[in-house]
Amino acid sequence: MKQNDTQLPIKEMLAKYETDLQTGLNTTEVTRRNLADGDNALSEAKKPNLLQQIGKHMADIASLVLLFAVILSVYLALTTDGGWTKPIVIGSILVLNVLIGMYQEHSAEQALAALKKLSVHEIQVIRDSKKQLIDATNLVVGDIILLEPGSQVPADARLATASNLSVDEAILTGESVPVNKSAEPLTVDPEAIGDQQNMVFSGTAVTQGNATAIVTAIGMNTELGKIAGMLNKTKKQQTPLQNRLNRLVSTLSGVAIAGGVIIFLLGTLMHGDSLISSLMIGVSLAVAAVPETLPIIVTISLAHGVKKMAKRNAIMRRVSAVETIGNVNVIASDKTGTLTQNKMSITRLWATDGGVASVKQIAKLSEQQSKLVTMFGLATNAEIEVNKQDEEIEMGDSTELAIVRLMYKFGMTRDKLEINYPRLAEDPFDSSKKTMATLHKIDDQKQLLIVKGAFDRLPIKREGDIYERAKEAHDEFGREALRVLAVGYKVIEQDSTKSIEALQDEVELLGLVGMIDPPRDEVAAAISEAQGAGIRTVMITGDHVETAKAIAKKIGILCQGDSVLTGAEMKQLDDEQLAGQIADTSVFARVSPEDKIRIVSAWQSQGAVVAMTGDGVNDAPALKAANVGIAMGITGTEVSKGAADMVLTDDNFATIVAAVSEGRTVYQNILKAVEFLIGVNFAQLFLMIFSVAIGWGAPLIAEQLLLINVLADGIPGFYLSREPGERAVMKQKPISKWSSIFANGLGQRVAIRAVTFTILTLGIYALGRFGLMDNVPSIGMSMLFLVLALGSMIDIYAIKTREPLSLSSFKSNRALNMGLALAALLVLAVAIVPPLQQLFGLVTLPAVAWPIVIVAMFVPTIVLELNKQIVNRIRLNRSYQAIQED
Ligand code: ADP
Ligand code: MG
Repeated sequence: MKQNDTQLPIKEMLAKYETDLQTGLNTTEVTRRNLADGDNALSEAKKPNLLQQIGKHMADIASLVLLFAVILSVYLALTTDGGWTKPIVIGSILVLNVLIGMYQEHSAEQALAALKKLSVHEIQVIRDSKKQLIDATNLVVGDIILLEPGSQVPADARLATASNLSVDEAILTGESVPVNKSAEPLTVDPEAIGDQQNMVFSGTAVTQGNATAIVTAIGMNTELGKIAGMLNKTKKQQTPLQNRLNRLVSTLSGVAIAGGVIIFLLGTLMHGDSLISSLMIGVSLAVAAVPETLPIIVTISLAHGVKKMAKRNAIMRRVSAVETIGNVNVIASDKTGTLTQNKMSITRLWATDGGVASVKQIAKLSEQQSKLVTMFGLATNAEIEVNKQDEEIEMGDSTELAIVRLMYKFGMTRDKLEINYPRLAEDPFDSSKKTMATLHKIDDQKQLLIVKGAFDRLPIKREGDIYERAKEAHDEFGREALRVLAVGYKVIEQDSTKSIEALQDEVELLGLVGMIDPPRDEVAAAISEAQGAGIRTVMITGDHVETAKAIAKKIGILCQGDSVLTGAEMKQLDDEQLAGQIADTSVFARVSPEDKIRIVSAWQSQGAVVAMTGDGVNDAPALKAANVGIAMGITGTEVSKGAADMVLTDDNFATIVAAVSEGRTVYQNILKAVEFLIGVNFAQLFLMIFSVAIGWGAPLIAEQLLLINVLADGIPGFYLSREPGERAVMKQKPISKWSSIFANGLGQRVAIRAVTFTILTLGIYALGRFGLMDNVPSIGMSMLFLVLALGSMIDIYAIKTREPLSLSSFKSNRALNMGLALAALLVLAVAIVPPLQQLFGLVTLPAVAWPIVIVAMFVPTIVLELNKQIVNRIRLNRSYQAIQED
């Protein structure tokens, strides 16, 4: 079918797909086709069914060991008269474990699925005889789509018209050079995608030119869909942090299992305990000490981070970027539209016949000024329409909109001008050359060429002192932070056969305009926040140095001692020289998109993690090269969004800084979960091994260990992922992504916690068994159970804030409070309610034991808080010494 499509003339194509180039499809037909064919979307890999999900959770180490414990206890029940409580309790814990795992995974996946809906891809179509912008998922076969530079092709389509069109098809063919396309029918039947010159394919990118095309295939029927079908079978990618933590979990699981084996050997060999009961204890210990919830906590924290970033206008396109954005040391940001408001208005004007004029004060334009505005208007593509609701609808680039506004102010419109000078051709604006040109008809003999753009790039005919005078005005505008645009023209006497590109020389300068584009209000604060967080902000702009410098100073990017580089100066430097200067440079002016990639690699060669913004098609390579590529949601092209890791829905620099803060919070929450889980796990190992080794026997039985594992580790740890950020996250230097998880005191804190709990639990057990009673193990056991379970829940509050504990640490995370309260109630119920006591081998405590238990519960928290005080004191002392030495 596709082969046919390439050979048919357009008329027959339109007949075949029952559509029309001018009117497009109508709404009823679109609905009918959408119902028949479905959405234009790649279908997801099939979700595993319930049984497969259960299977998956049963297959992790903790569940397998638990299953072994269930089998063992069933065997025990059958062979001895121990009864069936043990297998039932352990079996229930196994079920609970699998259920919690499934619930957690489900909530992580839901958060991620919600995100996909946020990153919509829009496309222009003709429907009901009107041009309109629609969500690309709503496309149907037969739709007429309009493509322009920067569009991402949303479906497979046959070209109906194409002017100067080239398309990057690397995603399908691997060919990185864009291919030229035309609408002509082909004579032969091409097999390869690369040879189908009059077709465009879903997922490819328009790099140049314009086209209209008829959609021939959508969704999974497209060429991309066929590949996606294959990709669905490959495995989900994990982020670097997930990989590291998975390795950590395997190591710890090894340690846990080794601990279980040791307990088993000690029990049977040294004390001659029964084989089965030693095995039971060994297995339970292994289960309790495996930090099986850690990987899922990481996934949930990442998913939660992505959700929070979306609320703050940053859409993450790759989950791994959530981690990387927190490690960033340099943010290289575009000026126009990201640091500034992109609301340009022309305030100053300079025409060759007079001096600088302030637009506000001009009552009537002089002849030369009027000519200047006319020529600017003719060479402009933007439009402002007023709709029925009296709302202004702006179409086009903000620089050009400023020109349109100036024309309106003096009673001109582009439509009127173009009646006198119809446009014949256009050489479009491009950020590399920084000018654009249009060609107009004057009469049968004469044509008018207009070139507008950066003053130093305009091919001006130099007569008298005109250049010097213009330069003076230009620099004055620049120092006032104005963006400057120059315009020149030339009358071509005869019909020339030269192309519009070749005609652009020796134009007569008419004058300049200067426009303000005020910085965004939030930007200065965001830059200083970034600075406090050890992140350098640099400005990248196509504007002139003077303009760039003036704005950079205003918002705190250009400080004393910083230098400025222009694109021309960069060309003089080789990569090594550039790398040598990069750290001192905070403004890059008059650069083109190609220079951005060099800026990224220069920083990276200095070991920096770089975030870089971009909006155009030619920004895509730099966005890919950056550690975090950031595209603009409003002004950005679809291609730049496709290349980016993150999209700003508000185009705002401050949003990047907010995302950094969220990224760091996610990392910190994951570390807190590691600290919370691992410390107690080690304590449990030490407690059991030590106690058995000195002949006290196992101080906790299997059911108790397992219950503590589920209630006191799993539930609270899960809610740590929702912990809001601490203020201090943006007061620290970025953490290197290569640094160990245990750096920055985490290892020390884990150790302190493990030691505290080991000593505390051993002490309580001994006190209960020998101190309060005359060797009654069950009293010691019951006290130990309460202290271990409740103590490790309480000290989550000390772990979750790095700052000293305060009332606000209790208020900040309600979900955690609820989860903890529930877990604590269950623990108390098991310790107090007689039937439950019996199930878990606990006894009623004498009254004297309760005050001891309650005090002991708070000991780990107190120790951690003391440790914070000491560490802070040392840190303060060090920085004090450092100041004194300076
Ligand atoms: P930026 O990245 O800051 O937007 P650009 O590369 O887009 O910089 O623009 C650089 C210069 O090109 C501007 O200072 C202006 O002189 C000129 N320019 C910008 N937009 C247009 C346009 N639409 N037509 C002609 N010249 C333009
Ligand atoms: Mg621009």
